[in-house]
Amino acid sequence: MGAGLSGLVAARSLATHDHHEVIVFDKGRSVGGRLATRRIGAATFDHGAQFFTVRGDALAAQVAIWRAAGVVDVWCDGFDQRSDGHPRYVAPRGMSSIAKDVAAGLDVRCGHLVFGVRRGPGGAGWEVVIDDGSVHPADAVVVTCPLPQTFSLLFEAGVELPVELFRDDYDRTIGLLAVLDRPGAVPDPGGVQADRLAGSPWSFIGDNHAKGVSDVPAITFHASPDWSESHWDHDADEVQSMLLEAARPWLGQAEVVESQVKRWRFATPRSPWPDPCWIDATGTLVLAGDAFRGPKIEGAFDSGLAAAQALT
Ligand SMILES: Cc1cc2nc3c(=O)[nH]c(=O)nc-3n(C[C@H](O)[C@H](O)[C@H](O)COP(=O)(O)OP(=O)(O)OC[C@H]3O[C@@H](n4cnc5c(N)ncnc54)[C@H](O)[C@@H]3O)c2cc1C
Repeated sequence: MGAGLSGLVAARSLATHDHHEVIVFDKGRSVGGRLATRRIGAATFDHGAQFFTVRGDALAAQVAIWRAAGVVDVWCDGFDQRSDGHPRYVAPRGMSSIAKDVAAGLDVRCGHLVFGVRRGPGGAGWEVVIDDGSVHPADAVVVTCPLPQTFSLLFEAGVELPVELFRDDYDRTIGLLAVLDRPGAVPDPGGVQADRLAGSPWSFIGDNHAKGVSDVPAITFHASPDWSESHWDHDADEVQSMLLEAARPWLGQAEVVESQVKRWRFATPRSPWPDPCWIDATGTLVLAGDAFRGPKIEGAFDSGLAAAQALT
């Protein structure tokens, strides 16, 4: 359950290598979760993950395939004119296109909010209950929602979860998406990281035009976890005005022609679980996602693979 990267990678691995019949449910309108791309007029924004790096062999092998297919490309190997030798990868058609690539050919049902997971009749297998009232029997279930959502889904499942899993909280992110009338003043290669943003609300600024994602000037501004938390309940218009003001130094001569604010309540897990996934005593319920491997695309990817391996 969950058509973010971890759920899709688990589903693809189970369907392709192990020939299981797999259904992926997601409450969202399309696949990707925090691999999210949004259009405003002619502008295109990555408004969740901005880029990714690769450390392990599993994602490196997949990236070679994605590069050959034109799904991902190298953006740069560092910001602020400092190369650290690690390529930053982006998706020229937007980060959600990575999820779409993994989802191709799978039975993915978006717009399906899962209400709960419970044991099947007589305690055999599982039942997945959807908000339209339908109940789907399953031999095994992989749950990849952010953990607080996972706990409420498993309320009726009678599963004993490690108490430490409950303690993990998530940082929040408030983002500003700004369409400009001309290129802004974000320096090459079009990204600014937290170390250059001290004293401002921002933790990352990404120029979607410079990344090759947007045809027209379009900048994603992400506020830091502290700023996002302290302004979470503020009036929406007030937050937008504050963020537009804070964006000014990065606009140069450009004017903002349109803007939107985007909030991520469960942006990044604070203390990722050390194992790549969690498996219940029956070996048929697996919790996975970036809360298990680290709050990054590679963490979600590795956790999804580990979930599939746990079921084979
Ligand atoms: C603002 C932001 C910036 C980031 N920047 C970067 C970056 O630059 N580089 C990087 O590597 N990583 C970045 N990340 C982290 C990265 O996006 C995540 O680690 C990764 O995408 C998580 O994937 P996932 O599959 O674990 O979870 P998700 O993508 O959150 O997928 C979970 C899915 O479960 C679905 N779901 C939840 N509840 C239900 C329910 N009840 N029923 C049905 N479906 C449900 C959701 O709709 C969602 O699609 C960023 C994240 C955010 C929010």
